[in-house]
Amino acid sequence: MCVLLGSTVLPLGDGMAQVIRSGPPSCKAVALTFDMCPVREGAGYDASLIAMLMERRIPATFFLSGRWIATHETQVKILLSVPFFEIGTHGQVHAHLPALDMDHQRAEISRPVTMLEKRFDRRGLLFRPPYGEYDDTTVEVAGTLGLRFILWNVVSGDPDPRLSPERMLEDLKTRLRGGSIVVFHANGKGLHTRAVVEDLSQELLKRGLQPVTVTALLDRCNVSSDHAPLPGNH
Ligand SMILES: [Zn+2]
Repeated sequence: MCVLLGSTVLPLGDGMAQVIRSGPPSCKAVALTFDMCPVREGAGYDASLIAMLMERRIPATFFLSGRWIATHETQVKILLSVPFFEIGTHGQVHAHLPALDMDHQRAEISRPVTMLEKRFDRRGLLFRPPYGEYDDTTVEVAGTLGLRFILWNVVSGDPDPRLSPERMLEDLKTRLRGGSIVVFHANGKGLHTRAVVEDLSQELLKRGLQPVTVTALLDRCNVSSDHAPLPGNH
């Protein structure tokens, strides 16, 4: 995985998407996001994590790859049935997008969007590039497809088998701020994801940070920050 940090929003020319790594720092909320990258082995679905999120009513955003959607119809329906879950897409086959020309990037990005529309009658308006890798073409294609380009500013590291849940939680506690977008996995690749997210949600409550979907973080927090702007947020 590629760690990308830096400015909150990178403004680009007309017709280009904005590359979004976080919401406004004045926002007393964070977005917990979960990638559904395709898997070669195993269920490809962290059922205990999803059950915990549902039980505790924790809003979450999922980025589904097309290959994952194709093999997880029941699970897609479960995710779509939860009103406090949001769905975006994550490429078709989890390709390294900058290695592809524009036509192939467009196909790779748009196929899961079309799948969600045709099979599940749902529009996925958020897009996260696999590995967080992109170039100008990726940003342009996402823009012309009307997709919001969502990265992250906090990495959980949850697919790393060497990372203990205690260490992961400590790192997250240190780095999380209002407006953060955190990346996890819900495809079963995170050995400790459920335990870490469960503990983290308690920590967030203590700090007065509410877990929200990405769209809520970006849109509804902007509204309140307009009324109470903090210096240095622009
Ligand atoms: Zn991925």
